[in-house]
Amino acid sequence: MKRAIVAIPLHRQSKNVAVIVQAVFDSVEDLLDTSRRPAVDALRPKSCPLCGRLAHVPGQPLGIVGHGTYERQVLGLVGLTAAALAVVQRYLCRGCARTISVLADQLHPGRWYAGEVILAALRLHLVEGRSEAEIRALFGVSVGSETWRTLRRWRRQLLVTLWYWLATRLGVKDPAETREEGQRRVAQLLAEAAAAAANDDRASARVLATATVHFQGVSWPLGRDPPENLARKLLRD
Ligand SMILES: [Zn+2]
Repeated sequence: MKRAIVAIPLHRQSKNVAVIVQAVFDSVEDLLDTSRRPAVDALRPKSCPLCGRLAHVPGQPLGIVGHGTYERQVLGLVGLTAAALAVVQRYLCRGCARTISVLADQLHPGRWYAGEVILAALRLHLVEGRSEAEIRALFGVSVGSETWRTLRRWRRQLLVTLWYWLATRLGVKDPAETREEGQRRVAQLLAEAAAAAANDDRASARVLATATVHFQGVSWPLGRDPPENLARKLLRD
Protein backbone atom coordinates (compact mmCIF):
# COMPACT_ATOMS: atom_id res chain seq x y z
CA MET A 1 0.00 0.00 0.00
CA LYS A 2 1.31 3.40 -0.92
CA ARG A 3 1.40 5.87 1.85
CA ALA A 4 1.49 9.58 1.31
CA ILE A 5 4.51 11.26 2.82
CA VAL A 6 3.53 14.62 4.12
CA ALA A 7 5.19 17.01 6.50
CA ILE A 8 3.71 20.29 7.51
CA PRO A 9 6.40 22.92 7.66
CA LEU A 10 6.13 24.92 10.84
CA HIS A 11 5.52 28.15 8.93
CA ARG A 12 2.33 26.69 7.51
CA GLN A 13 0.86 25.88 10.88
CA SER A 14 -2.00 28.00 12.00
CA LYS A 15 -0.56 31.35 12.99
CA ASN A 16 -2.26 31.86 16.29
CA VAL A 17 -1.93 28.43 17.84
CA ALA A 18 0.65 27.82 20.53
CA VAL A 19 1.71 24.18 20.77
CA ILE A 20 2.82 22.74 24.09
CA VAL A 21 4.67 19.42 23.88
CA GLN A 22 4.62 17.48 27.12
CA ALA A 23 4.10 14.04 28.65
CA VAL A 24 0.45 13.20 28.05
CA PHE A 25 0.46 9.44 27.55
CA ASP A 26 2.84 6.89 29.05
CA SER A 27 3.03 4.82 25.90
CA VAL A 28 2.51 4.99 22.15
CA GLU A 29 -0.26 2.43 22.57
CA ASP A 30 -2.14 4.81 24.86
CA LEU A 31 -1.48 7.69 22.46
CA LEU A 32 -3.06 5.78 19.60
CA ASP A 33 -6.06 4.57 21.59
CA THR A 34 -8.47 7.32 20.58
CA SER A 35 -10.98 6.13 23.16
CA ARG A 36 -8.60 7.36 25.87
CA ARG A 37 -9.20 11.05 25.51
CA PRO A 38 -7.13 13.02 27.97
CA ALA A 39 -9.14 14.82 30.63
CA VAL A 40 -9.53 18.56 30.06
CA ASP A 41 -8.56 19.36 33.64
CA ALA A 42 -5.57 17.04 33.69
CA LEU A 43 -3.85 18.73 30.77
CA ARG A 44 -5.00 22.32 31.27
CA PRO A 45 -1.87 24.52 31.18
CA LYS A 46 -1.23 26.31 34.49
CA SER A 47 -0.75 29.53 32.56
CA CYS A 48 -0.87 30.73 28.97
CA PRO A 49 2.58 30.28 27.43
CA LEU A 50 2.05 33.44 25.36
CA CYS A 51 0.47 36.04 27.64
CA GLY A 52 0.95 34.44 31.05
CA ARG A 53 -2.74 34.45 32.00
CA LEU A 54 -3.22 32.00 34.89
CA ALA A 55 -5.72 29.18 34.45
CA HIS A 56 -6.79 29.30 38.10
CA VAL A 57 -7.24 32.48 40.10
CA PRO A 58 -9.32 32.08 43.28
CA GLY A 59 -12.76 33.62 42.94
CA GLN A 60 -12.45 34.16 39.18
CA PRO A 61 -13.63 32.16 36.16
CA LEU A 62 -11.08 29.89 34.49
CA GLY A 63 -8.48 31.85 32.54
CA ILE A 64 -7.82 28.95 30.18
CA VAL A 65 -10.79 26.92 29.00
CA GLY A 66 -11.17 23.63 27.12
CA HIS A 67 -11.55 24.23 23.39
CA GLY A 68 -12.34 20.77 22.10
CA THR A 69 -10.11 18.09 20.71
CA TYR A 70 -8.94 17.15 17.25
CA GLU A 71 -7.50 14.01 15.74
CA ARG A 72 -4.23 14.14 13.90
CA GLN A 73 -2.51 11.40 11.98
CA VAL A 74 0.76 9.82 13.03
CA LEU A 75 2.96 8.18 10.41
CA GLY A 76 5.72 5.61 10.41
CA LEU A 77 5.28 3.84 13.74
CA VAL A 78 6.57 0.29 13.35
CA GLY A 79 3.85 -2.31 13.26
CA LEU A 80 1.24 0.01 11.83
CA THR A 81 0.15 -0.55 8.27
CA ALA A 82 -1.71 2.71 7.91
CA ALA A 83 -1.59 6.14 9.41
CA ALA A 84 -2.78 6.05 12.99
CA LEU A 85 -4.68 8.77 14.78
CA ALA A 86 -3.92 10.56 18.01
CA VAL A 87 -6.25 12.86 19.92
CA VAL A 88 -4.98 16.33 20.75
CA GLN A 89 -6.58 18.48 23.44
CA ARG A 90 -7.04 22.16 22.74
CA TYR A 91 -7.55 25.15 25.03
CA LEU A 92 -8.49 28.77 24.59
CA CYS A 93 -6.76 31.51 26.57
CA ARG A 94 -9.16 34.15 27.79
CA GLY A 95 -6.29 36.61 28.16
CA CYS A 96 -5.03 36.72 24.57
CA ALA A 97 -7.80 34.73 22.81
CA ARG A 98 -5.23 32.39 21.27
CA THR A 99 -5.58 28.63 20.99
CA ILE A 100 -3.20 26.31 22.84
CA SER A 101 -2.78 22.69 21.67
CA VAL A 102 -1.25 20.19 24.07
CA LEU A 103 0.67 17.61 22.06
CA ALA A 104 1.87 14.29 23.51
CA ASP A 105 5.67 14.19 23.49
CA GLN A 106 5.64 11.08 21.30
CA LEU A 107 4.57 13.43 18.49
CA HIS A 108 6.84 15.88 16.75
CA PRO A 109 5.53 19.43 16.44
CA GLY A 110 4.73 20.26 12.83
CA ARG A 111 5.36 16.75 11.45
CA TRP A 112 3.14 13.84 10.60
CA TYR A 113 5.86 11.36 11.49
CA ALA A 114 6.34 10.58 15.18
CA GLY A 115 9.57 11.95 16.69
CA GLU A 116 10.93 8.46 17.35
CA VAL A 117 10.44 7.53 13.69
CA ILE A 118 12.40 10.52 12.42
CA LEU A 119 15.15 9.97 14.98
CA ALA A 120 15.35 6.22 14.31
CA ALA A 121 15.43 6.69 10.53
CA LEU A 122 18.21 9.27 10.75
CA ARG A 123 20.22 7.22 13.26
CA LEU A 124 19.93 4.01 11.25
CA HIS A 125 20.86 5.75 8.01
CA LEU A 126 23.57 8.15 9.14
CA VAL A 127 25.13 6.38 12.11
CA GLU A 128 24.55 2.70 11.35
CA GLY A 129 24.88 3.13 7.58
CA ARG A 130 21.64 1.32 6.69
CA SER A 131 20.36 1.92 3.18
CA GLU A 132 17.33 4.01 2.43
CA ALA A 133 15.55 0.93 1.07
CA GLU A 134 16.11 -0.94 4.34
CA ILE A 135 14.77 1.92 6.39
CA ARG A 136 11.81 2.38 4.09
CA ALA A 137 10.95 -1.29 4.50
CA LEU A 138 11.34 -1.08 8.26
CA PHE A 139 8.83 1.75 8.53
CA GLY A 140 6.48 0.35 5.91
CA VAL A 141 6.94 3.33 3.63
CA SER A 142 6.39 2.66 -0.03
CA VAL A 143 7.32 5.35 -2.51
CA GLY A 144 7.82 5.27 -6.24
CA SER A 145 11.27 6.76 -6.26
CA GLU A 146 14.41 4.80 -5.43
CA THR A 147 15.35 7.27 -2.77
CA TRP A 148 13.26 8.11 0.20
CA ARG A 149 13.29 11.82 -0.31
CA THR A 150 11.88 12.42 3.13
CA LEU A 151 15.03 10.94 4.64
CA ARG A 152 17.24 13.30 2.61
CA ARG A 153 15.04 16.20 3.56
CA TRP A 154 15.17 15.27 7.22
CA ARG A 155 18.97 15.19 7.09
CA ARG A 156 19.10 18.66 5.58
CA GLN A 157 16.59 19.97 8.07
CA LEU A 158 18.27 18.35 11.03
CA LEU A 159 18.43 20.97 13.79
CA VAL A 160 17.39 23.73 11.35
CA THR A 161 13.67 23.01 11.36
CA LEU A 162 13.80 19.52 12.88
CA TRP A 163 14.49 19.85 16.62
CA TYR A 164 15.14 23.49 15.81
CA TRP A 165 14.68 24.37 19.47
CA LEU A 166 18.03 22.68 20.20
CA ALA A 167 19.95 24.39 17.38
CA THR A 168 21.34 27.33 19.32
CA ARG A 169 22.52 25.20 22.21
CA LEU A 170 24.14 22.74 19.80
CA GLY A 171 25.72 25.51 17.72
CA VAL A 172 23.91 24.82 14.44
CA LYS A 173 22.78 27.44 11.90
CA ASP A 174 22.70 25.95 8.41
CA PRO A 175 21.24 22.84 6.76
CA ALA A 176 23.26 19.62 7.01
CA GLU A 177 24.48 19.34 3.41
CA THR A 178 26.58 16.22 3.79
CA ARG A 179 26.09 12.82 5.28
CA GLU A 180 29.00 13.49 7.64
CA GLU A 181 27.40 16.66 8.93
CA GLY A 182 24.11 14.80 9.37
CA GLN A 183 25.93 12.07 11.25
CA ARG A 184 27.54 14.63 13.55
CA ARG A 185 24.16 16.15 14.33
CA VAL A 186 22.47 12.85 15.08
CA ALA A 187 25.34 12.10 17.47
CA GLN A 188 24.74 15.49 19.14
CA LEU A 189 21.04 14.74 19.47
CA LEU A 190 21.69 11.34 20.98
CA ALA A 191 24.17 12.86 23.42
CA GLU A 192 21.56 15.49 24.33
CA ALA A 193 19.11 12.67 25.11
CA ALA A 194 21.74 10.83 27.14
CA ALA A 195 19.25 10.32 29.95
CA ALA A 196 17.35 7.97 27.68
CA ALA A 197 18.47 4.40 27.20
CA ALA A 198 21.11 3.88 24.51
CA ASN A 199 19.56 3.21 21.11
CA ASP A 200 16.08 3.63 22.52
CA ASP A 201 14.78 6.05 19.91
CA ARG A 202 11.34 6.11 21.48
CA ALA A 203 12.63 7.31 24.85
CA SER A 204 15.23 9.63 23.30
CA ALA A 205 12.71 11.40 21.06
CA ARG A 206 10.50 12.10 24.06
CA VAL A 207 13.42 13.54 26.05
CA LEU A 208 14.32 15.83 23.14
CA ALA A 209 10.80 17.20 22.66
CA THR A 210 9.14 17.24 26.04
CA ALA A 211 8.31 20.43 27.98
CA THR A 212 8.70 22.79 25.03
CA VAL A 213 6.42 25.49 23.64
CA HIS A 214 6.18 26.28 19.92
CA PHE A 215 4.67 29.34 18.32
CA GLN A 216 5.24 30.72 14.83
CA GLY A 217 8.54 28.91 14.44
CA VAL A 218 9.87 30.04 17.82
CA SER A 219 10.34 27.64 20.72
CA TRP A 220 11.14 27.95 24.41
CA PRO A 221 11.04 25.76 27.51
CA LEU A 222 7.60 25.23 29.04
CA GLY A 223 7.14 27.34 32.16
CA ARG A 224 9.42 30.16 30.96
CA ASP A 225 8.43 33.40 29.27
CA PRO A 226 8.63 33.57 25.46
CA PRO A 227 11.93 34.90 24.08
CA GLU A 228 12.13 38.70 24.25
CA ASN A 229 11.66 39.34 20.51
CA LEU A 230 8.50 37.29 20.42
CA ALA A 231 7.21 38.78 23.68
CA ARG A 232 7.55 42.27 22.18
CA LYS A 233 5.74 41.17 19.02
CA LEU A 234 2.95 39.58 21.05
CA LEU A 235 2.44 42.83 22.91
CA ARG A 236 2.14 44.73 19.59
CA ASP A 237 -0.31 42.25 17.99
ZN1 LIG B 1 -2.87 33.98 26.53
